[in-house]
Amino acid sequence: MNIVLLGPPGAGKGTQAERMSDRHGLPRVATGDIFRAALAEGTPLGLEAKRFMDTGKLVPDEIVEGIVTGRLGDADCRGGFILDGFPRNTHQAEALDRYLASRGGEIDVIISIAVEPEELVRRLTGRRVCGGCGANYHVSFNVPSREGACDACGGELYQRDDDNEGIVRSRLDVYKSSTEPLIEYYRPLGRLVSVDGSGSPDEVFTEISGAIDAATEREGR
Ligand code: ADP
Ligand code: ADP
Ligand code: ZN
Repeated sequence: MNIVLLGPPGAGKGTQAERMSDRHGLPRVATGDIFRAALAEGTPLGLEAKRFMDTGKLVPDEIVEGIVTGRLGDADCRGGFILDGFPRNTHQAEALDRYLASRGGEIDVIISIAVEPEELVRRLTGRRVCGGCGANYHVSFNVPSREGACDACGGELYQRDDDNEGIVRSRLDVYKSSTEPLIEYYRPLGRLVSVDGSGSPDEVFTEISGAIDAATEREGR
């Protein structure tokens, strides 16, 4: 099953993708995480991506598309994947469709998670990320048991450079103008599921799981 998770920054894509990955045994491919890992290693890709990420702009399509098609070619993605944060505009969506078609595949379900903007700002400005394993926390909504430390791996939690209010608002604008149109791009396929992301992580996960089970049944898999 090939799954795309759509939604504005802070909608809970990462949180839900992790759970979906556990439940369905599918790899999560998160472009933002790939760039942050490259940056942590100090590679040219990471340094190039950082120039765009720091201002909330999209990394150029040619770079992102190359990274994603390379990653989807890995053996663990052959049986399906969960894309988190890609595609982010029509150019990327078309590149993805072409790539999948070339290997006889397609997107099976698109989950679009909606949350109202002020809640997104609260979620993003309070987000903390584990430097060890990438797990997400929140200073009020998802507090680790020991302050500043990851429950899963004990790693140190940090705040992303682009999770300050000014950059968050730019990222939300970029979502509106570039990414949100993908909802209409995918709608005619009849595989788009809109999910209310304002509930608790458990509630949202229940809704997403129901949608994926329905899609699986529909396709007789
Ligand atoms: P995205 O990947 O879409 O940017 P994340 O999964 O990283 O979103 O979530 C953004 C922030 O909001 C994180 O701090 C996370 O802990 C928190 N969060 C995620 N889902 C919820 C939810 N349903 N309710 C409240 N906070 C949430
Ligand atoms: P969030 O989880 O808050 O939605 P991400 O970690 O997905 O944020 O992305 C962080 C940044 O990485 C983006 O603001 C953008 O600069 C870059 N990025 C991630 N995915 C893409 C993509 N598909 N196309 C272009 N830039 C991307
Ligand atoms: Zn951790």
